[in-house]
Amino acid sequence: MKGFDSQKGLSLYIHIPFCTRKCSYCAFYSLPSSKWVITPDEYVYFIIEEIRKLSLPHLDSLYIGGGNPGLVSTPDLIRLIDEASEKGRPEEITIEMNPEEVSYEKIAKLSGHVDRISIGVQSLNEKALRILGRNSTRKENIRALEILEKSGVNYNADIMTAIPSMTVADTINDIREVNSYKPSHISFYCLTYEEGTPLYSLLDERDEDYEYDSLQAGWKELRDLGYDHYEVSNFAKGGRYSRHNINYWRLNQYLGLGPGSESSLGYRDIYSAHVEENLSLYLKDPSLRYEHLKKDECSLEYIMVSLRTKWGIDKKELLERFSIDFDSTFSGSLKELDKNWYSNTMESFSLTEEGWMMLDSITLALFMAF
Ligand code: SF4
Repeated sequence: MKGFDSQKGLSLYIHIPFCTRKCSYCAFYSLPSSKWVITPDEYVYFIIEEIRKLSLPHLDSLYIGGGNPGLVSTPDLIRLIDEASEKGRPEEITIEMNPEEVSYEKIAKLSGHVDRISIGVQSLNEKALRILGRNSTRKENIRALEILEKSGVNYNADIMTAIPSMTVADTINDIREVNSYKPSHISFYCLTYEEGTPLYSLLDERDEDYEYDSLQAGWKELRDLGYDHYEVSNFAKGGRYSRHNINYWRLNQYLGLGPGSESSLGYRDIYSAHVEENLSLYLKDPSLRYEHLKKDECSLEYIMVSLRTKWGIDKKELLERFSIDFDSTFSGSLKELDKNWYSNTMESFSLTEEGWMMLDSITLALFMAF
């Protein structure tokens, strides 16, 4: 693996590019069942071979996402996890699942092998689910939440806001109802209109004020319910952060396997890599396409991802990895920013919730200093 620094940890993301059908807003690379060229289980065997060829080190974290990893048979999911854990169990193992795939039996079989389960609830409002083109109904979402709560597993629930036809009050109801099933982690996102998706035709109806109000109200509700807002879109209780995603936001090393996945390898000198978004091509040639990042590109990437978390930019690390002294480089840019948007200490520079609402403008203002 080009650029890989064996002295630093590695996170592995495995993309399972299969879904039963496409949701109307989805721009992730995944194939509906009518376009599968192999079965999810056959694909997993292919990935297992890839892991063997790469001879991966002990992993800091493993994340199996998609698509819908719940479409892989449970014994094959366990085989995949075992293969990735060959050099020792990763510190954290997460698997994504769609609500309709959650059953007591599956969760019981997986529970000794994974640390976190992440389910895409998105909403408990039936009308919103139909607009999103989700496979699961309100009833199935509630059943999945009940199973996860009763099974006592550590889990994340995705909730989406600013869905057409929903009100801010509907979002608050979703948050309260999902919270009643005690997820330790909630990912709370605003619906995005991606080009090429069926929902993109509704872009003209997008209302930015409504999105802003929904996000603000949702953030407040989650805070009031005791969640720690540790990243723009992520909330955790009891310190149960997503270790895997924190590795992304610290620009630590990660490797992505599967079509459309991304990698970042190296600590100071970074190679980013991607694989084509095409399952048939990937099966013929799964090799990574590398790009050696220039020094400025590495530091900008580090700044951009760091600002997303409540810990922000670690000034010592910025200096050590990219030879950038934060205070002397950015003092001019900070004068342009509202003081309520950030916290600037000797050790770090981080954004407040108010600042996160202005994330793009703040990032741009900092980039101007280069
Ligand atoms: S389940 Fe997830 S990956 Fe699959 S189509 Fe829906 S949003 Fe996309």
